[in-house]
Amino acid sequence: MDKIYDVIIIGAGPAGMTAAIYAKRAELDALMIEKNFCGGGQVLNTYEVDNYPGMPGINGFDLGTAFSDHVDKLGCERVSEEVTGMELKGDIKTVNTDQGLYRARAVILATGNSPKKLAVPGEEEFAGMGVSYCATCDGAFFKDKVTAVCGGGDVAVEDAIFLSRGCQKVYLIHRRDELRAQKSLQTALFNTENIEFVKDSVVKEIKGEGKVSSILIENVKTGELSEISADGIFVAVGNEPNASYAEGLDCDEKGYVKASEDCKTNIPGVFAAGDIRSKRLRQITTAVADGANAVTSLQEYLI
Ligand code: NAP
Repeated sequence: MDKIYDVIIIGAGPAGMTAAIYAKRAELDALMIEKNFCGGGQVLNTYEVDNYPGMPGINGFDLGTAFSDHVDKLGCERVSEEVTGMELKGDIKTVNTDQGLYRARAVILATGNSPKKLAVPGEEEFAGMGVSYCATCDGAFFKDKVTAVCGGGDVAVEDAIFLSRGCQKVYLIHRRDELRAQKSLQTALFNTENIEFVKDSVVKEIKGEGKVSSILIENVKTGELSEISADGIFVAVGNEPNASYAEGLDCDEKGYVKASEDCKTNIPGVFAAGDIRSKRLRQITTAVADGANAVTSLQEYLI
């Protein structure tokens, strides 16, 4: 393909979509590449977002869709293709996808992250048969059943609260006695009768026949093993970066792309925005800020 875009934005979560909005408003020739048909990123799987200014309690799908509609309204070119490789060095960057090849003077990486696995026996075997990484996607399959959530962050606590509305009982299994989640979520959790907090415990095995029937846990303080009868387990132990393409990019020890607030990476003309970037706070608000900052830096670079 002969065409050379000003910028290719990879990923259509809040960071990528904000970058697309800022790029179009700066009259840049931009292409957004997203592997899913539906733009929005992880926000789409969030039941309720209560900390995005001006939109208290908005449904995640509605917020993601609003971002996406805004991008379309400004006429940003976009394709649903999976990136298979990139050549980021040099003045013209090349992005290969499962359907073609695109070139641009600059690239914004906004590919976010994916749920981390527990890596215990049974997790892979029962994936989709009681093991899930998305409560809002799969919670409805567990109506009136007993489920467990593993993790102690915002996502785990939000998932437990969400599941408690339809499930008979929800166990929240966490490896420490203190949760990492925001206090307001903790208050809501501890005020929910059908949630039981199983502290100081790690999942050792997910058991069942054809589908999940119980979870073997170990108390990390006493070493005691016990089994919880449950029809499903939702794993919410954090995320890992979607940066397998990161050849030549400086990354931190967890694999997130190193870039400061200006989103500039170690490769000229390559910017990292949103959850993929090495940073302290990963929220929709900070992803959106990155999208705007990346385009500002990119404009300076192109000049
Ligand atoms: P997170 O904040 O990194 O929490 C991960 C949790 O899983 C921690 O409690 C951690 O335990 C536990 N964990 C990690 N590895 C484990 C393992 N191998 N076995 C057992 N437990 C393990 O991740 P998150 O909850 O997915 O949230 C990701 C980011 O999105 C965070 O920055 C969060 O603030 C943000 N977020 C924000 C909102 C909101 O503002 N409404 C909503 C959702 C997510 P330790 O606590 O012991 O480390």
